[in-house]
Amino acid sequence: MRALLEDAASRAIAYLEGLDARNVAPAPEAIAKLACLDQPLPAESSAPQRTLTLLDDMCSSATLAMAGARFFGFVIGGSLPVALAANWLAGAWDQNTAYYNVTPATAYLEQIALRWMLELFQLPHACAGAFVTGATMANFSALAAARHALLKRSGWNVEADGLFGAPPMTVIVGSEAHPALIKALGLLGLGRKRTIVVPTDSQGRMRADALPALSGLTLVCTQAGNVNTGAFDPIAEICERAHDADAWVHVDGAFGLWAMAVPAMEHATAGMAAADSWATDFHKWLNVPYNSGLALVRDATALRATMAVTADYLPTASSFRNPSDFTPELSRRARGVEVWAALQTLGRSGVVDLVERTCCHAQRFAEGFRAAGYTVLNDVALNQVLVTFGDAATTGRVIAAIQSEGSCWCGGTVWQGQTAMRISVSSWATTDDDVERALAAMLRIAHTCR
Ligand SMILES: *Cc1c(COP(=O)(O)O)cnc(C)c1O
Repeated sequence: MRALLEDAASRAIAYLEGLDARNVAPAPEAIAKLACLDQPLPAESSAPQRTLTLLDDMCSSATLAMAGARFFGFVIGGSLPVALAANWLAGAWDQNTAYYNVTPATAYLEQIALRWMLELFQLPHACAGAFVTGATMANFSALAAARHALLKRSGWNVEADGLFGAPPMTVIVGSEAHPALIKALGLLGLGRKRTIVVPTDSQGRMRADALPALSGLTLVCTQAGNVNTGAFDPIAEICERAHDADAWVHVDGAFGLWAMAVPAMEHATAGMAAADSWATDFHKWLNVPYNSGLALVRDATALRATMAVTADYLPTASSFRNPSDFTPELSRRARGVEVWAALQTLGRSGVVDLVERTCCHAQRFAEGFRAAGYTVLNDVALNQVLVTFGDAATTGRVIAAIQSEGSCWCGGTVWQGQTAMRISVSSWATTDDDVERALAAMLRIAHTCR
């Protein structure tokens, strides 16, 4: 066992150390080689060492260097070394973190990580939290609590009786709501299309003046951090209006919620703490391994009423927090360990620095594009940059050429009818030098593509 695990660790370390020198995108030949794995199910057992070697030989070079310093796709960064190390140790512990009495160490770490998150975001100490797989499930969990609470006010028990015959809820979203939030509404029986869609402005912010009439049966889904522009809905204003009507305000802040940790970003985050629930990711801006996200709900009893289960064989009685009282999952890995390790190591100042540094890098990209005569489509207020290199076909060609050249990796999007390249700076590993290197490559490639 020792030889196998040490070999895995040294292969993993070699992989990470090699990222800087390799192309960010995998070579087509490396991807083609994956087909060799298409073998019949082995009839007989074989040596574990052989399996590990096969995995490394066939797959490491076919990975996209998402863990590296010059990956700017989606809104994700590489794992902090300490978060990866904690993940390895917690993997060895193999704790099914559902109940405090059974897995005290990992359940307790989660409880502490939750408290630290509430302190970091300056949210009420009594909020409930669920450590889930990502923002999709964080939105799902928080919206499930909202559904519970709103229907309960009308005397309806949605967990017991479902939505058949329930008083109708009004669900409001911005036209730029993330598709994962819309999907969560569908999973909850609230309907992907049964929403009132509020128009958004040039940055993708919900127009508060266009909100319809609200009531105590209304759920308003806001967003902090548009996946393309990074823009925030006017959440303070929406909360004020919604709370006058007793409506519930949810914030999808998969990455944008992290701005709440940054004093210098107070102008953007002011009033967000007045919402009723929030969803965020750890595997985006906190740079911990996938899959890791957090749902926060002000009305702790609502989340618990939605998620807790009991059965005679389950050790639910505890004066400590049982993680599974708050999550859709029962059995699950101890994902709070990595969150704790990242927060323990970074501290408040490290989190602030990570967010501010990546936002500065985004500013530098925008400046570099503008200086070269290209159009930046968004107000770069966070870590997202949208740039066009001309018409849709040209921009598409530039994106493809940047991806295959391999100095860095960026994805594409269509923003309000215009094809654009997205640059998301989300990794702890990105340095000033990486930004200059990537920018130089992007500009050189854009120039030759035009
Ligand atoms: C990434 C993202 C999601 C989905 O998060 P997952 O972690 O992929 O489930 C939802 N909303 C927003 C705003 C996002 O950026």
